[in-house]
Amino acid sequence: MKEETTLRGVSRRDFMKACVTVTAMMGLPFEMAAKVAEAAERADNRPAVIWLHFQECTGCSESLLRSSHPTIATLILDQISLDYHETLMIGSGAQAEKSLHDSMKANRGKYILVVEGAIPTRDFGIYCKISGKTAMESLKHAAEGAAAIIPIGSCASYGGIQAAEPNPTGAVGVRDLIKDKPIINIPGCPPSPYNFLSTVMYYLTFKKLPELDSLGRPKFAYGRRIHEHCERRPHFDAGRFAKEYGDKGHAEGYCLYQLGCKGPATYANCSVQRFNDVGVWPVAAGHPCIGCTEPEILFRKPIAEKVQIHEPTPFDAYPPVDQEKGKGPEPLTTGILGIAAGSALGAGGMFARNLKQGELKEDADHEKTE
Ligand code: SF4
Repeated sequence: MKEETTLRGVSRRDFMKACVTVTAMMGLPFEMAAKVAEAAERADNRPAVIWLHFQECTGCSESLLRSSHPTIATLILDQISLDYHETLMIGSGAQAEKSLHDSMKANRGKYILVVEGAIPTRDFGIYCKISGKTAMESLKHAAEGAAAIIPIGSCASYGGIQAAEPNPTGAVGVRDLIKDKPIINIPGCPPSPYNFLSTVMYYLTFKKLPELDSLGRPKFAYGRRIHEHCERRPHFDAGRFAKEYGDKGHAEGYCLYQLGCKGPATYANCSVQRFNDVGVWPVAAGHPCIGCTEPEILFRKPIAEKVQIHEPTPFDAYPPVDQEKGKGPEPLTTGILGIAAGSALGAGGMFARNLKQGELKEDADHEKTE
């Protein structure tokens, strides 16, 4: 494995780093990293994977392929036998169809079916046809012999943008059509490649599927709200919000809730795992979270619409920002009051409370200088 990974451009060090990362993401103790690495190194441990594309933009595959340090795509493609992927495979037409059917036949009951994109159901599914078959027919046929199905991205998980009102093609997610197979949703637009890699590694290591939440998502990746670990959270707790794109608060990293950030209602690990291996994610770059892992938010609620904060969330480890010791409320106080106000009125309530208490002096100062 050492030589192979080095040959493919992934050093042993990067390989072990990725194993430690996915071990931590799965919530396993550090010592389990060796077991994960061992499972990944076994040449006879590569499950056949059939990857189907339906109504989608290929952004999920692109996200996977554009990752680096180490190349997650290389690691994933080393761990599986990718027998059919319409975007990546060289073959086309009858040749591609043959490899699909050969793999389904040879690996019946054992292969993993990955689905990218929504499935149109209106008018007998005629709005997406590949090789003369509707997406519905292709999905049902491939699902019959699969050991498990991984819908990757929010389109395959819930229907995504195709299913947004008025949903002209009757687009749905895999779980709406397939009821008799284990299904592990990896939603996101796009999802973190690490969430897919961790799911595959979990399956290879333990020969079973990870624990799932009520939406079929692995709990290890989607068990907590991004708001719980956001670097802008101390500003939320202290009542400091960006009010417009480009204002001083926005430039200084204040909380984006007033701009419609869906972080308090979105279960995902973006604020911890980040993207592109360089530590960035949309909220860090100044864009509110759009709730892309949540079926009731993504393409259902306008970006600027605020979500209600229904439940207290644990406070993160960040200290309050720009608050002199002994001045202003304690973070615990601001948090609890903020949650209470947020429950009733959303952050608008907390914003009003803070204004009343004179805690938004900085905001007032900004406005004076603007
Ligand atoms: Fe971060 Fe959004 Fe929560 Fe503010 S509301 S702390 S920007 S996740």
